[in-house]
Amino acid sequence: MKRLTLLAFFFLFLFGYINLQGQHTNILVADSLLKSRGEVFFKFKVGSQQEVNILTRIISIDRVDGLEVFAYANASQFSEFRHQGYAYEILTPPGLLLPEKDLLPGIEQQHPGNTTTIWNFYPSYNQYVSYMVGFAQNHSEICKLDTIGTTIDNRLLLAVRISKNINLEETEPQFFYTSSIHGDEITGYVLMLHLIDYLLSNYGIDPRITNLINTTEIVINPLANPDGTYHGGNNSVSGAVRYNANYVDLNRNYPDPKVGAHPDGNQWQTETNAFMTYAYNNHFTMSANFHGGSEVFNYPWDTWSKNTADYQWWQFVGREWADTVHKYAVPGYFTYLNDGITNGNAWYEINGGRQDYMNYWHKCREVTVEISETKILPTSELLSFWDYNYHSFLNFIEESHYGFSGIVTDSVTGQPLKAKVFIPMFDIDSSEVFSRETNGYYMRPIYEGNYDVSFSDSGYVTKYVKNVQVSKWSSTTVNVQLRPLSYTSDNLGRGIGTIHICPNPNDGDFFIDLPKNVNYPVTFQLYSCMGKLIYQTTWKFQSGSDKLQLSIHGLTPGIYTAKVSTENSVYANKLVIQSVK
Ligand SMILES: [Zn+2]
Repeated sequence: MKRLTLLAFFFLFLFGYINLQGQHTNILVADSLLKSRGEVFFKFKVGSQQEVNILTRIISIDRVDGLEVFAYANASQFSEFRHQGYAYEILTPPGLLLPEKDLLPGIEQQHPGNTTTIWNFYPSYNQYVSYMVGFAQNHSEICKLDTIGTTIDNRLLLAVRISKNINLEETEPQFFYTSSIHGDEITGYVLMLHLIDYLLSNYGIDPRITNLINTTEIVINPLANPDGTYHGGNNSVSGAVRYNANYVDLNRNYPDPKVGAHPDGNQWQTETNAFMTYAYNNHFTMSANFHGGSEVFNYPWDTWSKNTADYQWWQFVGREWADTVHKYAVPGYFTYLNDGITNGNAWYEINGGRQDYMNYWHKCREVTVEISETKILPTSELLSFWDYNYHSFLNFIEESHYGFSGIVTDSVTGQPLKAKVFIPMFDIDSSEVFSRETNGYYMRPIYEGNYDVSFSDSGYVTKYVKNVQVSKWSSTTVNVQLRPLSYTSDNLGRGIGTIHICPNPNDGDFFIDLPKNVNYPVTFQLYSCMGKLIYQTTWKFQSGSDKLQLSIHGLTPGIYTAKVSTENSVYANKLVIQSVK
């Protein structure tokens, strides 16, 4: 610890010196920082926004303010940047701005009058782990702990999962909050601990929170880059860095829809792989990842300059987020760019960001929220930032319920299907959603309006549902049954055996000739031409005849599919009902 304080003092001395000596000393300071911390924070001016879009491939741009650019670089990035010939100024890293004594872990205190904790300090790494374990242990009926993975330096990537019936996968939206992928942007880290505590403490007490937990699966990962945050040691966040232990910016390391698999030229980092696997194993409807250094709701795309299909929805939920914050915050907070919201690419392009990855590959509406201009707030301000923001945190979780949703099943078996829920003339660039293989549930957040929606899956007849009406802050239910192609009357005899029906057409009284040496039990099923199961019966044992006799009354005249199945085989044929008996 002493070493770090001395180091900070040394840098403060050098930064003072820079002002006197200019660019030469800049290089000295940069080299020294790169040696001790693996990264350097600096600013420079560009001539145009286009230059930023080229530089974003070389260095990690943190913020663009007009033509002034703030950025980070590791040693090789910085050497490439210096070849571009820009005059730059090395800045004190956010992780060294506050004296270490102001960032020491505190002791959690109970709020007078309720059961929540006062989060007015940055915990040590061990405190953090014990809080996460404690949340799950103390509220085991609605909370469990997930280990997303382990970092390069063997720290844990943790999330808590909060929901009623915590061990069941239910037909409800999954929502994800994740913070501090940049290790020195840690306001969101503490606010997420606060949010977990607030949700768990208010379950069964506050009707809004109770309802939220009853109807949503909320997953919260407060710290996505613990190696960066605890770069200065596990005891305190003092000395935090942006990058991971390999000096890689994790928020430039994801596959990018425009640039490809490795936009930063690095292999996927341990942390990136862990989060990608976690995303594959979940079905997040919506998500937000929290950053610092600015105060703005940054919606997709970051990589493409074109709009997403859902840009109206993004502007609506972004406006709602920012306006709500303005209602509860001091004037001037969260007003950057368009009064607190921006399209990512319109601000500055980034490639390999988590937000675009989640939107494009996981059909998850993920936003980047820059939550405090000061990356490491003085601890005395943390509670105020909670007060400014928690209404928006809750609203945004609730938004994951608004749009249209339902369950897609096989019309014959009733089994859930992984179907594509697509809106022709609307969905572009992977904006469609899929129902879950496990329970058939899908959720499509969408801006208010009328939509014609198609539901499709391979092996099934595509179904179109016209005029799905969606209003603000409400959910429209659209449950859909898809008819298997193999049971349609025009597809008989392909892949399944044919049975003989006699007489056919008939009035509901008929015989079916069974194949030779058929194994019992034998099940007979009758489907309407829309694939709906109308009638079913089973013969457990052989009756001595090779014919099944059936008498089904009250059928509407028309074409049906008769299906006979045994343990190993399926037979079917068209059955025509000519008159009602
Ligand atoms: Zn960031």
